[in-house]
Amino acid sequence: QAKQDGGGQYCFYTEEMDQHITRKLQLENGLRKAIEQEGIDVYYQPQVDVRSGEIIGFEALARWNHPEFGFIRPDEFIPLAEETKLIVPLGEKILLEACRQYQQWMDEGHDLERISVNLSAIQFMDPTVVSTVESVLKQTKVAPAHLEIELTESIVQDSTQALPVMNRLKKMGIQLALDDFGTGFSSLSYLKDFPLDTLKVDRSFIQTIHENEKDRAVVDTVIQLADRLGLSVIAEGVETEVQLDYLRSRGCAEYQGYVFSKPLSKTEASALLTQSMAM
Ligand code: C2E
Ligand code: MG
Ligand code: MG
Ligand code: MG
Repeated sequence: QAKQDGGGQYCFYTEEMDQHITRKLQLENGLRKAIEQEGIDVYYQPQVDVRSGEIIGFEALARWNHPEFGFIRPDEFIPLAEETKLIVPLGEKILLEACRQYQQWMDEGHDLERISVNLSAIQFMDPTVVSTVESVLKQTKVAPAHLEIELTESIVQDSTQALPVMNRLKKMGIQLALDDFGTGFSSLSYLKDFPLDTLKVDRSFIQTIHENEKDRAVVDTVIQLADRLGLSVIAEGVETEVQLDYLRSRGCAEYQGYVFSKPLSKTEASALLTQSMAM
């Protein structure tokens, strides 16, 4: 009986595995095409000053509308792009597009402090990363101080390789932010070794801030830690006025989240900027 059950489960499992692998292969091929044919869009989520409510900058976020499967979440296609190393050409395109858009907004008279771009650990480990960033800045005429690169704590695992790269980017004048801060598994000791500018408080801590004393304690501590280390702090995933009020009361300077705006297409983001300039 037990054996039969096990067998049954095994069959079910392979079928699921099959479907999973088929979709993965389809997505992988689709991704290759999408990168070649400019099928991946960049969306922009405003980064906002907590006190003034002004837009300080934007975070660039990749969006893929698959011709057959429809909209695919970055949480699915970014890991796939990483596995296949397609993240290197894809990441370069996103960086170029985001910097171009930033410069266009600046040329149109908008005053934005920064454009933030996510770089995966795989890109970061690629020997061409520094020259790629240099070339993008040169092509788009974006001053290095206006580019912020977002890294996750996974970078810490390869710190012997990552640290020299971070130092070179830092020396160029680029800003470095640690994304999803507090969700990684690394020790805090790297905070003093890495040339960081900003900590991004992960949205999991923000989400239940109003009901969970422990989340408040974590958020308070990250804000204080950033302050003591001379780093900036930005809260991610702020969805309600209550959450925003709390952050304001704790002296958190900046935030991103649906309470202000979802990630927007470049047309929508431009419209929002024009509207806020007119006010
Ligand atoms: P992330 O860099 O931490 O980006 C923040 C994510 O939170 C985005 O999800 C954003 O849409 C979402 N978000 C923003 N405000 C709110 C909110 O108020 N509530 C909730 N529930 N979510 C909010 P998205 O765009 O789906 O991206 C997911 C992750 O995929 C990103 O997390 C990042 O790690 C990765 N990713 C996205 N674009 C890129 C890219 O161009 N390159 C790389 N390497 N990774 C990317
Ligand atoms: Mg990010
Ligand atoms: Mg994040
Ligand atoms: Mg994330």
